[in-house]
Amino acid sequence: MWQSKVQTTRRRRRNQGAALVLALSSLLWYPHPTAFHRFHAPSDGDAPAITFPTAGEQEVVSKRPPFVPVVSDPLPQGLYYAVTPREVAAMLDTLPGPWRETVGMVRLCYRPDGDVMAETDGEDIELHYVVNRGGRAPVAEGETTDEEERFGGHTVRRGRQEWVQWPDHGLLKAYVLKHLLIHEVGHHLAPTGLDEEADEAWAEDFAFQYFDPDRRLR
Ligand SMILES: [Zn+2]
Repeated sequence: MWQSKVQTTRRRRRNQGAALVLALSSLLWYPHPTAFHRFHAPSDGDAPAITFPTAGEQEVVSKRPPFVPVVSDPLPQGLYYAVTPREVAAMLDTLPGPWRETVGMVRLCYRPDGDVMAETDGEDIELHYVVNRGGRAPVAEGETTDEEERFGGHTVRRGRQEWVQWPDHGLLKAYVLKHLLIHEVGHHLAPTGLDEEADEAWAEDFAFQYFDPDRRLR
């Protein structure tokens, strides 16, 4: 049961060995040597998150303790974050105190060399989800789009490139704020001692208990 839940959250690689070099006008996505799924739990092998300010970034701070900084790195031209730092900060302010208190900071940043949508080092969260001007998120070759479809995205193909088209910015925001962000907070709250797979399943279950798109009122 755990297994089936966590499996639906990943874009499974259909061909692990396939070259994942995708020319997307101004961006390239390469395979990540260790990540086989698109969410990320803290582990010993992870590099620490970058937590210093970069030129051109925007920063806001949530209004309720512990006053979490939310920053956004500059993006390549033509790409946009799904949410603004202000929207992330406002979302954090709606969460219970014990959840908020686990979050050191949130960074909106673009990781063209990675294939995870969001990750945490156990304290600082990174949200990587970007779309183009048309509201389309590029999909790396071999990844599945089951989860985005569950949240209202549609898979489209233009030539050899697959995308998730978000028909409505509200659906996209719900996916990033109520699922990706909450999933990472779930990692902070997961019981200690779980192995990586169990930790992943716990965080995913936590996120779906917080917000289940199949149960929402339309
Ligand atoms: Zn995870």
